[in-house]
Amino acid sequence: MLPDIENLLKLQGTDKEIRRLQDEIAEFPKRAAVIEQKLAGTKAQLEKAQAAVKADEAARRKYDTAIADLRGKISKYRDQSLDVKTNEQYKALLHEIQFAEKEIAANEDKILELMVNADARDKEVKAAQAELKAETAEIEKEKEQARQRTAEDEKQLTEWRGKRDQIRTGVNEDLLRHYERVSKFRGSGLAEVLNSKCVGCQVMLRPQTYNEVRTGQHTVICDSCQRILYFNPEHELVPEKMTITRARRHHPKIDAPQAWYYKSDFANEGEVYMCLTNSGGQATRRVYEMHTGRLFGDILSREGDYRHAFPEDITGAIRLNGGWKEEELEIWGTELPMVVLDALLADLEAARYEMQARPAAKPEAAAAVPTEQAAS
Ligand SMILES: [Zn+2]
Repeated sequence: MLPDIENLLKLQGTDKEIRRLQDEIAEFPKRAAVIEQKLAGTKAQLEKAQAAVKADEAARRKYDTAIADLRGKISKYRDQSLDVKTNEQYKALLHEIQFAEKEIAANEDKILELMVNADARDKEVKAAQAELKAETAEIEKEKEQARQRTAEDEKQLTEWRGKRDQIRTGVNEDLLRHYERVSKFRGSGLAEVLNSKCVGCQVMLRPQTYNEVRTGQHTVICDSCQRILYFNPEHELVPEKMTITRARRHHPKIDAPQAWYYKSDFANEGEVYMCLTNSGGQATRRVYEMHTGRLFGDILSREGDYRHAFPEDITGAIRLNGGWKEEELEIWGTELPMVVLDALLADLEAARYEMQARPAAKPEAAAAVPTEQAAS
């Protein structure tokens, strides 16, 4: 991986952490507002309960006054009854007295009702007061925690900003500008390439672009989303899948009309894949650069079968699984498709694993004495 890309990945990590801290700091006042609102609700409830108590007290006073007035009237009627001359007048006064007594009883009933209610009202007030006290204590605790947390976050934010500035100095300026521009619009400036796709926008890359990202010799930008692309070989091969492949690796047939080989160094040009085919008494050899899949040199044809026509190439090479039609090879021309490169690479990994596990399975020693295993 290019050092610039490694630094940008670190930068992306710090940017993410800085954003997380900023979001967290911004979140505290919102949470405090929610608690304050709840507190205001409890306060209103308490005030309502207290107002109800006051209203009851006022009503009680009103009934007490009414009763006192009625008692006054009764006493006045009794005084008058001493001076009445006729039986009718006496009866009328008695009627007034009875009426006032009924009124007194009605008022007394209402007072009794208020007294019964007063217990419930008292409980409401006390409950609201207790709740308010608990909530106030809770909010103070939360506010204190928020204060401490914010202070801690601010401290970390300063540290992360310092780290970010440090990393920025290690990245090429143009690339950094590009990264920041794309980050601003898309939320991220980097995208991993997985299974020939840009993870950022899910668009399939052209084989050549994919190969360029894989080799990691210069920076490549996604044509469709402009993110800077990177490749992590550890993510490409799922370990589980590899285990299965390794456990069940098929072995190529010795007499196959087409054979694929891996050579760690070909004509001092590095790692290559070689495709040897037998057809009509002729052997053909194609050599492809391993990482880019580009055809290397000319396609060679010689008399006889490939084992005897190209023995020097087979020596020390690792035989791989692979069989494609002659027409396909021609259509691909000078560049192997990614699927073929991936299949060959997966089989190469499996073959290497097998060689480690079972030393008997070794690269080919010589063309005359093929040591590869027979098909299982
Ligand atoms: Zn993209």
